[in-house]
Amino acid sequence: MSTTETLHEDALAAINDRLAGLKLPTRLLTSHADGAPYDIRAITGKGFGCFAINDIKRGTRILEESPLLSTPIGFYFHEDIKAEFDKLSPTDQALYFSLHSAHGQNPASWPGHVHPMVAEKGKKRILEQHNARIGKKPSIVSIFQTNCMEKESGAAVYVHASRFNHACNPNAGFQWNPAIKKETIHAVRDIRAGEEITLSYCDATQNKAARLYQLKHYGFVCDCPACADDDDPDSFAAKSAARRYRLSELQRELEPVRGWALHKAGTKDGFAQYLLEYIGLLIEEGDYSGRLSSAYLDLGLFCESKGDLKMAQQATKKALKIRLDNMGSDYPDIKDYATVVKRINLAIDE
Ligand SMILES: [Zn+2]
Repeated sequence: MSTTETLHEDALAAINDRLAGLKLPTRLLTSHADGAPYDIRAITGKGFGCFAINDIKRGTRILEESPLLSTPIGFYFHEDIKAEFDKLSPTDQALYFSLHSAHGQNPASWPGHVHPMVAEKGKKRILEQHNARIGKKPSIVSIFQTNCMEKESGAAVYVHASRFNHACNPNAGFQWNPAIKKETIHAVRDIRAGEEITLSYCDATQNKAARLYQLKHYGFVCDCPACADDDDPDSFAAKSAARRYRLSELQRELEPVRGWALHKAGTKDGFAQYLLEYIGLLIEEGDYSGRLSSAYLDLGLFCESKGDLKMAQQATKKALKIRLDNMGSDYPDIKDYATVVKRINLAIDE
C-alpha cells in the first residue's frame, strides 16, 4: 500500500471515528461509493482534500449538489443561520458540524475595532463574524463563514462542495446553477488521476498580499504555485504576479467598455488588441474561468459589429466551448452564447 493510500485509509478512519460519535451515515463523506470521480484524503498539515480517482477531462461535471443549509439573503446574521439550522434533521445538524471551521484565530491578526462610519447592522455583522473567528470552538457562524458559497440570492453550505480546498490557480470551478437549483463543480482543466481538485475562493486577478488577506478569513495561508516564493524572476510565482498585475490593469481599462457597455468599445483605441492581450494572459495563467469565456464573447461580438465575421466566429465558438466546460449545458445563459454562434454562422453562410 502506498503512502497516499495509507493516508487515505487513516483519513477515512479518522472521519469514520468522528462520524461514529455523531451517528451519521458515513457514505455521505466517502463520495467514492456514490460514484463520484474523486475521493477524500488527508493531506499532511492541511486536513482533508478531494482527489481525482481517474483522469478527469476539462468540462466534466465533478459534482452537482443541493445545499445542506442556505440563507435567503447574502447579508446574513447569526439569527438567519440559526433559524435555518433549527429546521435541519439531527443527522443534518451533525453533518453541518462535521464541516471545517476556521475558529480559534488570533484576535491580534484582525482589526480590533469597527470604523465609526459603519452602520449599526454592518457593525453587528462584523462583530458576529469576528467573534466566530476568534471563538474557542466551532459555532454555527464560524462553520457557515468558512464554508458558504454565494448563490442567486443568499449563500449556502454543502456536505461535499464545501470540502474542496483552495488554490489561486484552480483546476476546477464552482457555480450555483439556478436552472437546477444546485451548486456545480466542473473541471476547468484536464485533471490527472491522483491530483487534488481545487477551487479558488478569491479573486484571481488580485496580487498575493490581497489574496493572503482574503484567505485569512478561511484560516489558512495558501501554498499554491502562485503563492510560492517569487524572488526568482523565472519562477512561476514571479511570472504569475506580473501577469496578474497586468490583468488587473487591463481589467480596469476595459471594464467601462465591456459587457453591457460593449457598444462603447469602438470609442476605445486598440480595444481588440487589449482584449486579446487579456485573453492571452488568462490562458498563460491557466485561468479558464467565466472571465475567459466572457472575454472571448466580447471579442466575438466586437468583431461581428466591425464586420470581421471569421474572427467573430472563432472567438464566439471558443466562448461557447469554455462556457459549456465551466457551467454545463443546463446553465441558463448557454443558450444565449449558442444563439450568437448560430447567428454568426448563418451570416457567414449567406
Ligand atoms: Zn495561492
